Amino acid sequence: MDLSFRNLSSWLLAEALIALGYVRRARLKYLNGDYILSLYFHNPSKKEFEACVKWLIKHKFTFISVKDLESINNGERPFPKGGVLLTVDDGWASNETNIVEVIAKYEIPVAIFISTHPVEEGSYWWSYLGFRKSKNNDKRIEFLKKVSNSERLAVVDTFKKQFTLSREAMTIEQIHKISKSFLVTIGGHTHSHPILPNCDYLQLYDELNTSKQKLESWINKEIAFFAYPNGDYTIREIQVLKDCGYRLAFSNVPHYISRQHLQNHFELPRIGLLEGASLAENICRMVGVWHPTIKNIKAMFNWDTSIADKTVNYKVKKADLAVVKK
Ligand SMILES: [Zn+2]
Repeated sequence: MDLSFRNLSSWLLAEALIALGYVRRARLKYLNGDYILSLYFHNPSKKEFEACVKWLIKHKFTFISVKDLESINNGERPFPKGGVLLTVDDGWASNETNIVEVIAKYEIPVAIFISTHPVEEGSYWWSYLGFRKSKNNDKRIEFLKKVSNSERLAVVDTFKKQFTLSREAMTIEQIHKISKSFLVTIGGHTHSHPILPNCDYLQLYDELNTSKQKLESWINKEIAFFAYPNGDYTIREIQVLKDCGYRLAFSNVPHYISRQHLQNHFELPRIGLLEGASLAENICRMVGVWHPTIKNIKAMFNWDTSIADKTVNYKVKKADLAVVKK
C-alpha cells in the first residue's frame, strides 16, 4: 500500500466496513445468489494482484472466463453461484509478470483488453502529459477527456514531439506469447485509447475496426470482446461495435452482473480495483460495498471530490498552457 493520507484514511474505513460485517454479508449474497462479480485491474503489482486472487479463492468464489460469460448469456451453461470474472485494461508490459504468471499459478482465467497504438509506439497518451510531476497532471488529462478527439490528438502530438518515454505497453511479441495460454483471452480496447463519444463517426469506426484487425493478426485468434476506454460509450458506440463484429462489451459502472445485466451484453458493469490502495479497501471494492459507501458519505457531506465532475478551471504552467491552447 502507498502510504498517502488518502490510502490510510480509506484503509481505516475499509477495516471498519469489514469489522461491521458488510463484506461478509455481501460475500454470502454472491455465494448464494445469481450474481457474477466482474472486476477490472490496470497495472497492479504482482503482490497486490495475487493478494486479491488469494482472497477470492479462500472465500470460495468461482472463477469464470469471458467466454464462459458468453456461454452463460447464450444459455449454454448455468448461471454460477459466486462467479467472478477478472479483466485487465490497456495492456501494460508488467501484466505478463504481475497478472499472467499469477493466473497461471492458480489456473484461473483472465481477459486482457489491449489498446494497439501504445503497443506499436510504447506509451499511453496520458503519460506524455504526465511526464512532469505536477499536481496539474490529472487535471490536464481530465481536460483532454472532455474535448473533441481531434483536439486531444493535436495536443498529445505536441507533447510527443518534445518527449520520449520508456516503454509502458506490452510488445507484440509479449501479446503473442501470453495469448497462447488457454487461460488468457485478449480483447479490444480501441487503437489509441480515445474517449469514444468524443470521436467523429470515422474516427470511432477506425478505432474499433483497426484495433480488432491488428490484434487478430498479432495473435491469430478472433477478437470478440471489448472494454470501453474510461468506461465511456453511447448507443452509437454499441452499434459500431456490433458492426465491427464484437459480441460483448464492458463498461466501468461499478456493479455486479445479474441475469438482467447479461441481457444488455454491450453494457456489462465492472468494479474497478485501485492500485496502491490497501488490501482491505480492495476487498471492499471487490464485493461491491466500497462505491455505495463512498457515495453515501459524499451525499451526507454534500461533498464531491471527483475531478471528472468538476468544471475544468485550473492553472497550468505557461509552457503547458501554450500547448493546451493549440
Ligand atoms: Zn483503458
